[in-house]
Amino acid sequence: MSELRAMSEPMIQCRRCGKEAAPLTKAPFRTELGERIARGICAACWQDWLKHQTLLINHYGLDPRDRKAKEFLYEQIEQVLFEGERGEEIDTTKQGSIEW
Ligand SMILES: [Zn+2]
Repeated sequence: MSELRAMSEPMIQCRRCGKEAAPLTKAPFRTELGERIARGICAACWQDWLKHQTLLINHYGLDPRDRKAKEFLYEQIEQVLFEGERGEEIDTTKQGSIEW
């Protein structure tokens, strides 16, 4: 079966949920923020963020390739994963809009 998984990976203490957990297998972005996520955020919290991100993208009609949309999402990552805030509230009954 999965022999790669058998070696125990170093655990991290997740900055968001505070649990000892396995980190992501690799940094999600090739940036300083990506490195911080890989070192400080557990895989479960990252999955939570991805769900939240999908909501944000759909709600605001973001194009993730757009530079401003990316900046907005990175800011949200900081808030949601590192500052323990809930991030941009989403009223899914309405179409959102962003003032850049
Ligand atoms: Zn976590």
